[in-house]
Amino acid sequence: MSRICVVGAGYVGLVSAACLAKLGHYVTCVEIDADKVRSIKQGRVPINEPNLKPLWEHHQRLGQLSITTDYVEALAGAEFVFLCVGTPPNEDGSADLSHVLAAARSIAGGLLDDARPVVVLKSTVPVGTADRLRAFFSERLLPDGLTVVSNPEFLREGLGITDFLQPDRIIVGAEEPEAAGAVAGLFGDIPAPLIVTDSRTAELTKYASNAFLATKVSFINQLAELSEACGVDVTAVSEALGLDPRIGGAYLQAGLGWGGSCLPKDLAALVHTADRTGVANELLVAVQEVNRRQPELLLDKLSELLGPLDGLSVALWGLTFKPNCDDLRESPALRLVRVLQSEDCEVRAYDPAVNEAAELSGVAICGDPYTSAIGADVVILATAWDEFRSLDFRRVRGLMRGDVLVDARNALDPSSITEAGLTYIGIGRPTVRPRIAGVLS
Ligand code: NAD
Repeated sequence: MSRICVVGAGYVGLVSAACLAKLGHYVTCVEIDADKVRSIKQGRVPINEPNLKPLWEHHQRLGQLSITTDYVEALAGAEFVFLCVGTPPNEDGSADLSHVLAAARSIAGGLLDDARPVVVLKSTVPVGTADRLRAFFSERLLPDGLTVVSNPEFLREGLGITDFLQPDRIIVGAEEPEAAGAVAGLFGDIPAPLIVTDSRTAELTKYASNAFLATKVSFINQLAELSEACGVDVTAVSEALGLDPRIGGAYLQAGLGWGGSCLPKDLAALVHTADRTGVANELLVAVQEVNRRQPELLLDKLSELLGPLDGLSVALWGLTFKPNCDDLRESPALRLVRVLQSEDCEVRAYDPAVNEAAELSGVAICGDPYTSAIGADVVILATAWDEFRSLDFRRVRGLMRGDVLVDARNALDPSSITEAGLTYIGIGRPTVRPRIAGVLS
């Protein structure tokens, strides 16, 4: 079993630390946000990730897992240092490496004597970053610097623990075979294909993966527009498409578009890399453009149906970028809020995981979906939380002023909506009027 220091206690850092402890290792996290460290020490895990809290507490009790703000303490005895800090986008779309570089400086400054742990880059970083870190450490830590290995992370928020412990593949990008073997060995008997490659390939693979997922979503969203124009239901098309194993059904659901902390920034960074290297990138740019348009297309559809939108009262169901997490970063629902507000609509929102957020100024946050629907002209389901599927839609209709429900994730059964007296609007599906017109009016 190894001693591991994990740098950065965000989604990836916390999940990696807890899972590495579960695999039997001794893990110390180092995090610069002192409030976060204090609250984790007091038993409050700051992210809403299923099963993370009990796993964290269990291994903390066993003395296998701890957290600190002190690099010297965290690095003491560490054989591996997992870098899990954020790589947000710069204004030009490139990845901001300032957190990675600051962490590298702190590692170089915090190592005792001749300690030389292997640095494992889990953060998503542009091609060449591991090379850059190697050069940095060889200048700072003579004579040999540190070994840097890329090990990109593919976990999905909301499924982080499962994805870490049962990954589809483990990618280890290293320049020395011994270092690759040592890092691969940390994952014990996890039965996943192991891809050992050089660090540049590992770095590009991570971006390629997210770019491909975004492409699938934008593809089906564009096809949704075409389906509507042709009077076809895109959900039937995507079901049939997805059964082809060459295509696969994941990420093939039409909706409000992709978001979150990874896809938008990673696609932007890949576009930037293509620009920088002079390689054509029209496909990736189109993928971004289709995504940017999704909330606007939805509003066009609403104004076609209802006329001018100013003064419209909208109940928005779901704010997080996807269900089962509390992450609002780059959420399509928030982009929709901004488009609605630019049309002078009044927005009342409900999300099972969100009580307040700075990004939601001007939005009334409600404690349940029914309250948000009171007096609404339109309800829009923006994030497909399970609880929206089993609501009493007759009750919803009775609370509303209007009768339109927009299912912007194609998550609901249109017939249960129309039976409740609501007009159903999906994405890439025919609009369906209520079965019994004015049933509750
Ligand atoms: P995050 O913003 O949730 O967490 C990063 C943490 O690092 C924060 O707590 C921050 O305070 C801390 N930090 C920043 N600088 C530090 C420093 N110098 N020393 C110590 N701590 C520092 O980020 P995240 O979502 O966990 O993502 C981390 C990286 O993993 C990113 O590159 C991201 O693209 C990648 N990634 C994320 C996911 C995901 O689902 N969130 C999945 C795969 C890969």
